[in-house]
Amino acid sequence: MSSDERFLRQIPLIGEEGQEKLKKARILIAGAGGLGSAIATYLAAAGVGYIRIVDVDIVENSNLNRQILYHEPDIGACKVEAAEKTIRALSHDVEVDAICRHIDEKTVRDLVRGTDLIIDGMDNFAARYILNSASLDEKIPFIHGAVNGFYGQVTVILPGITPCLRCIVPTPPTWERNPIIGVTCGVIGCIEATEAFKYLTGTGEILKNRLLLWDGLRGEAESLQIMRYPDCIDCGSSAIEQDVRRFRV
Ligand SMILES: [Zn+2]
Repeated sequence: MSSDERFLRQIPLIGEEGQEKLKKARILIAGAGGLGSAIATYLAAAGVGYIRIVDVDIVENSNLNRQILYHEPDIGACKVEAAEKTIRALSHDVEVDAICRHIDEKTVRDLVRGTDLIIDGMDNFAARYILNSASLDEKIPFIHGAVNGFYGQVTVILPGITPCLRCIVPTPPTWERNPIIGVTCGVIGCIEATEAFKYLTGTGEILKNRLLLWDGLRGEAESLQIMRYPDCIDCGSSAIEQDVRRFRV
């Protein structure tokens, strides 16, 4: 199948130029769990040319309520290797860089470098803060998403311009690793993928300076205006002015 035919239904929305931008895009999906599954599936399907996906876990039976990249035969396999197999079955055109590694202070720089966009598929804020700092230091935009039960949130962080993750969540919330239903990961992962799609193609209005909150129990979403926290320990330093100038160029 030609790529023109594959993307027939989306090119009217973004043009050939937008499709070419997706093809040239290099993204990092940090975490190959419930969020990462939805993000990777939809961005590979959309025609993103390069996906670096990072996770250190193996596939477990208890993952299968939400981690749609994996199937029963994958139980016991390394997640990123199983993820690569699924993504490549979806599209042989996408280059997948599957990295089985912890995301920590020592590894994060190498993991984010060479990418245009970092997308949050993590399940804990300790790792998210590490990605947030790397995003600020390397000037790479960071799409944050998190889930809890029926609830979720998303924002797009542009280093030096918008609030960073630490501005809006200064300390880890108490609800980490609480129960979760699969569709919440699907909803939030798909909103993150939508933001990535818009950012990479220059379409629409990205969720910058806004935090989208999803309440699946009520079937409602709202977006809150958010602001940079002047004393933020990650982005509130004297480096701010320098960062803003760099991004306005
Ligand atoms: Zn901040």
